[in-house]
Amino acid sequence: DERLLSPERLGEDVDAALRPKTLDDFVGQAAARENLRVFIGAAKARGEAMDHVLFFGPPGLGKTTLAQIVARELGVGFRATSGPVIAKSGDLAALLTNLEEGDVLFIDEIHRLAPAVEEVLYPAMEDRALDLMIGEGPSARSVRIDLPRFTLIGATTRQGLLTTPLRDRFGIPVRLQFYTVDELERVVGRAARLLALPIAPDGAREVARRSRGTPRIAGRLLRRVRDFAHMAGDPLVDARVADAALNRLEVDALGLDAMDRRYLLMIADIYRGGPVGVETLAAGLAEPRDTIEEVIEPYLIQLGLLARTARGRCLTGRAWTHLGLPPPAGSQE
Ligand code: ADP
Repeated sequence: DERLLSPERLGEDVDAALRPKTLDDFVGQAAARENLRVFIGAAKARGEAMDHVLFFGPPGLGKTTLAQIVARELGVGFRATSGPVIAKSGDLAALLTNLEEGDVLFIDEIHRLAPAVEEVLYPAMEDRALDLMIGEGPSARSVRIDLPRFTLIGATTRQGLLTTPLRDRFGIPVRLQFYTVDELERVVGRAARLLALPIAPDGAREVARRSRGTPRIAGRLLRRVRDFAHMAGDPLVDARVADAALNRLEVDALGLDAMDRRYLLMIADIYRGGPVGVETLAAGLAEPRDTIEEVIEPYLIQLGLLARTARGRCLTGRAWTHLGLPPPAGSQE
């Protein structure tokens, strides 16, 4: 099911139109951006392919966008695919042998590569070579083919999802963080300009505050707010207009939606605030464990509403306050 606040790419998204095209245009992630600037500059100065990069962090924070920017700033071609799409090792071999000198090959969801496909990647990343098996049985032999120099950019939600041999082959691991409200306010302002939508600073701030630290969600909410403003005949999106639209969309003041509230209320009502295991919650909510761990929980933890402990998930005092419920007697907070 598709949630308005899902950070995943949805069919309706017109992400491409809002993507920044240069490092200077890319808002936030200052540490990652400045490091990449150095590595790009150094690779260009030496006339070498840049070392392989691994972007990790929650969906919608700009991993694909940054990969495209790296290719553009290096002045090389950009090829994109994703882990689940590459079914056989031959598919990856075909992709690799078709690369042009210096190209960036972007593999989204790289943790989902099949083991046999991943094996092909090791010599490709390390020695820029492809080991092919020719023939079968006793006459089979392995032939090594040289590949063009290339930069692999992998993206994944959590670094720990990668096998150790794959992780070790990335020279440049880059963690992306949730954006601050200030940064998202700039993302929203920029997107509004591109959409030719008149927006007041307090309107941009209201959308930013409720976008779960995620530019993809900010862009999506802004489009919906634009629809409401348009239909209501409001010429300018200010805080009041944005607030009214977001309330209609059931996005609350912290950017939580019905799914987040169901999650919090389940821990509150049934497990008296926790601790409760993630499997139990997944079963109770009928949501995949991955969705809970990668989409719902990171933002609740970031907001300080949820604590992950060795014994399970627990609500914090702030969560009880946000839900408007009294914490149970005898709770730690
Ligand atoms: P990911 O690959 O991490 O899921 P994307 O790179 O596809 O995320 O970005 C999702 C959307 O958010 C894109 O439409 C892009 O326009 C926007 N976006 C991401 N990062 C930024 C940023 N730093 N500044 C402005 N827009 C951004």
